[in-house]
Amino acid sequence: MQSIIIAIDGPSSSGKSTLAKQLAATLKYNYVDSGAFYRAATLYFHELGLDLQQHQQLIAALKDIHISNSYNPSTDKWQTFLNGRNVESEIRGITISNLVSEVSAIPEVRSFIVSKLRRYGNEKGIVMDGRDIGTVVFPDAELKIYMTADEKVRSERRFRELKSKGVEVTESQISENLAGRDLLDKTRVMAPLRKADDAIVLDNTNLTKQQQLEQVLKLARLKISERN
Ligand code: C5P
Repeated sequence: MQSIIIAIDGPSSSGKSTLAKQLAATLKYNYVDSGAFYRAATLYFHELGLDLQQHQQLIAALKDIHISNSYNPSTDKWQTFLNGRNVESEIRGITISNLVSEVSAIPEVRSFIVSKLRRYGNEKGIVMDGRDIGTVVFPDAELKIYMTADEKVRSERRFRELKSKGVEVTESQISENLAGRDLLDKTRVMAPLRKADDAIVLDNTNLTKQQQLEQVLKLARLKISERN
């Protein structure tokens, strides 16, 4: 059975990772959260105390960054590792959330991370979510989804999610962060967030997780059957 690549892009907190994880679990595919790579690189620079305006210093530090993600069956969660350390909770906090879009706009950082992400595509059978997966990382992905949802709904979902993880944050911090990141992500010069021409738009403002999964599973199974 031939596997496919599923690319899921869209603005912050549009439900990409929830859908991507559900798809990966159902299809027995690998899942890669590309945003976690940008977040982990940002954490690395931040911990070193580097000035994010000094791009040459950041670029020089890239060679010391090793990022990976893996599934932990005992907790049923995906985790991100930065140089062997589990940084999953640190990269989700408001500090890194407020810095990541500045870092991810740097072309050399993008090239470094995109080359790591592309390696996951060698095996197919992968669901990857982010901002440029269908446009840049895997322009030939068999299935591309562009997810959107009402801004207020996204902000509320994100707030609930972070609160449930025990992250200290206020609702206004979240809505400011989402709006700020979306603006930077859509207007940067290299690989801005945009819908790929052949992506299918999924607005999940009024969909349950189950409904959105069913819709996309249908599309995925169709694409898989076309390849076999
Ligand atoms: O997906 P998540 O919200 O965790 O991504 C964090 C940030 O990483 C985004 O706001 C964006 O600046 C950057 N990113 C990116 N390209 C991707 C994935 C994430 O620029 N493919």
